[in-house]
Amino acid sequence: MKTLKELRIRAHAKVNLYLDVVGKRQDGYHNLETVFHSIGLHDQVILHEQSEKGFTVLCEHKDVPTDCNNLAYGAAQILNDVVGGIGGLEIRINKRIPVAAGLAGGSANAAAVLYGVNELFALGLSTKQLMDIGVKLGADVPFCLHGGAAYGTGIGDILTPLPSLCDIPLVLINSGIAVSTANVFKNFNITLTKQKKESIIIRTCVEKSDIIGVGKNLYNILEGAVFAKHPELTELKDQLSTQTGCYGALMSGSGATMFALMEDTDAAKQAQVLFENNIGFCTTTKTTSVGVCFDN
Ligand code: ATP
Repeated sequence: MKTLKELRIRAHAKVNLYLDVVGKRQDGYHNLETVFHSIGLHDQVILHEQSEKGFTVLCEHKDVPTDCNNLAYGAAQILNDVVGGIGGLEIRINKRIPVAAGLAGGSANAAAVLYGVNELFALGLSTKQLMDIGVKLGADVPFCLHGGAAYGTGIGDILTPLPSLCDIPLVLINSGIAVSTANVFKNFNITLTKQKKESIIIRTCVEKSDIIGVGKNLYNILEGAVFAKHPELTELKDQLSTQTGCYGALMSGSGATMFALMEDTDAAKQAQVLFENNIGFCTTTKTTSVGVCFDN
């Protein structure tokens, strides 16, 4: 009897240290300038070859679809369409990354499936080929495959690598407001934005590992649109950014998760204690240099 193969993958979340919208495109997407960084918080994606043809997604999180709308399912399907040879696959997702939270959880799951299926079925695709396939599923998928730190342009898919910031402690908070990325962009008015910061400043800080400079130059143009709809987030961000030992705080992506870059693990833990009883999700993590990797 044939042994069915199994592979466990870590799918890391990301934060955006910088996010600017630089234009609207004909296809409805927006052109961005962004600085991504992978963080230690990750989902576990377990791929299991199954004897029946087709794909099965298992996930216990109530807001995660288990049909073809799951990005992980989409990743398996698109790989099968492009290169074939996958046969049957069960995809189990152990969700730890908050959903619809600006942390690219779905994109990370898709990246994990692309990465894992390529190994499991010995498809022989390069990372660049996987990224080209991944962008069809979502703008953040190429970065999730790339991992570490990168400057993103285009829809966030044209990546210039940056050196990763090593093990910088972070606090993440999410009050449970689920934000639809599509809605944030739909309601975003480019002419109403203020106090633009140029990306070159924070990129240079990242290149020099100048964490104080990174903290001072965090920027997300989407905060205005999201905070206008959810005013309580403004106060929450103020509380986070005034914690002892905080270099700076920002909303990640289209929100509503906010993160703070902290001086050390003790400062991160102290901030966590303050928030964890009053907010839906609060955790500490660190910046990391990987997007997807095996989880043995
Ligand atoms: P992005 O900013 O890339 O849109 P996000 O981090 O804000 O991502 P996700 O956690 O990826 O948000 O979820 C966005 C939506 O995608 C959810 O509402 C969910 O229904 C759907 N979705 C599809 N597949 C997944 C998945 N594997 N994990 C989480 N959500 C998924």
